[in-house]
Amino acid sequence: MKAISTRGKSPKVDMSECILEGLAPDGGLYVPTEWSNSLKNCQAKSFKEYAYEAIAPYFSGDPLEKELGGFIERAFNFVLPICFFEKNHALLELFHGPTSAFKDFGARFLAEVLSQIGKTHGELTILVATSGDTGGAVASAFFDKPGINVAILYPKGKVSPLQEQQLTCWGNNIKSFRINGTFDDCKSLVKEAFNNNEIKKKYNLTSANSINLGRLLPQMAYQGFSAKLFKGSAGVDPNIVIPSGNLGNAFGAFWAKKMGAPIDKIILASNANKTIPEFFREGKYEARASIQTLANAMDVGAPSNMERVLYLHSDFSELKKISSSVSINDDEIREEIKTFHRDHQIPVCPHTAVGLLAAKNLLGDKPYLVCATAHASKFREVVEPEIGSELFLPPKLASLMEMKSEVLDMEASLEVLLNHL
Ligand SMILES: *Cc1c(COP(=O)(O)O)cnc(C)c1O
Repeated sequence: MKAISTRGKSPKVDMSECILEGLAPDGGLYVPTEWSNSLKNCQAKSFKEYAYEAIAPYFSGDPLEKELGGFIERAFNFVLPICFFEKNHALLELFHGPTSAFKDFGARFLAEVLSQIGKTHGELTILVATSGDTGGAVASAFFDKPGINVAILYPKGKVSPLQEQQLTCWGNNIKSFRINGTFDDCKSLVKEAFNNNEIKKKYNLTSANSINLGRLLPQMAYQGFSAKLFKGSAGVDPNIVIPSGNLGNAFGAFWAKKMGAPIDKIILASNANKTIPEFFREGKYEARASIQTLANAMDVGAPSNMERVLYLHSDFSELKKISSSVSINDDEIREEIKTFHRDHQIPVCPHTAVGLLAAKNLLGDKPYLVCATAHASKFREVVEPEIGSELFLPPKLASLMEMKSEVLDMEASLEVLLNHL
């Protein structure tokens, strides 16, 4: 099977080439040429077996087809529990990877694929602009991978101390650059480098952000697997509720449903950034500037995977039959963190709180599975005052906090950046 661009003006490519390229040459996003139905009645017992059956159709005929089992075996070396807190209501704990957020799934799979490509392609340089979570997951996933260098750009003073430590504690093949500017300045710098073909070739530049289809494959797999587990326990197909920003996690759910996974509706839970809820209300997509909220990994005004969702579901009335969206503000987030802890003794992060309240408001007693996208302790400044007790970092994360950090301060200049690559 191959991948094509959502805009239809780029040649078909193998999955591994699409992963290496990131964005299609016509500016569109890569999607598969066909949607396999391998998740219909998939009997796989473990997540790794299931992920193999989910992803393998897209690697059939690919030069890396035979490596897929190894990628999956090494990438997903942590647990994926479902926690039922009521008879028909559960949390999907996506935060047991090394950086305690769901982005570990995508980043670790991508690191496996790209380091394999790096072996034959020559050394690759991954250039990534981050406002927090993505950079940490990418750094952790690519650390010490042979044949790969990573350059992480983040805005000075705009990430939390914990996030900053996660971006700067690595050394070896991971370099961090603290840019005197905003997140948008970091993104522009990365774009400038990618738009210059000479530079792109010379440094063998590759991107690792959420437009890369390689990050979405594992997300499709866990959405399908967890729905199957839920159904096995509760006897019904779950509605899946997804705290959303760039819609990468959500696209995984649409994809899994398309492939036959037992998913009822897909609820897109937004913070005060209302692009997605407004789209569902108006039927018209309009990007807007993002605003800052407590669920900051979802502070997105122009969701990058919207183009994929609209490609898969071009008929708005059909899309509304299987999906809807709601916006939750900061006051409601605080309240939900408190209430959920009081009722269930489970601390949740602000993003997860958005999902839980969206589920309550839209679904009530219907069965649902809410994606818990990060560990509560990553956002302890927000969570601890609401629950009235102290949270502790998971051991893997805590050990990163002990490491020595190293960072290069610079202006947003391509010339300076290139001198350091
Ligand atoms: C990235 C992130 C999100 C948003 O996911 P998208 O795929 O961008 O929609 C939600 N919660 C957390 C904790 C994240 O890191």
